[in-house]
Amino acid sequence: MLCPECKGNGTVAKYKTQTCPTCQGTGKRTSFPQFEIDEYGVCRQKEPEKCPTCEGRGRIRVGQPEYVPCRLCGGRGTIYEE
Ligand SMILES: [Zn+2]
Ligand SMILES: [Zn+2]
Repeated sequence: MLCPECKGNGTVAKYKTQTCPTCQGTGKRTSFPQFEIDEYGVCRQKEPEKCPTCEGRGRIRVGQPEYVPCRLCGGRGTIYEE
């Protein structure tokens, strides 16, 4: 069957990453807690929003990807089912 990791290409794109400058690596839109009043009049901590730049990962890809042989299939592009 086709390797699910590289989709049969035999290589996978490996990106260099750096700490997201928007959230400083926290993955959150704001680094301090925000509060809101809910429908019962209770003050509660707001669920922090994900950082839009890194989508919550805290790191962003930089530069061009480097194509490296897929580790799952060893670069063949297919794996054998048992
Ligand atoms: Zn593969
Ligand atoms: Zn971020």
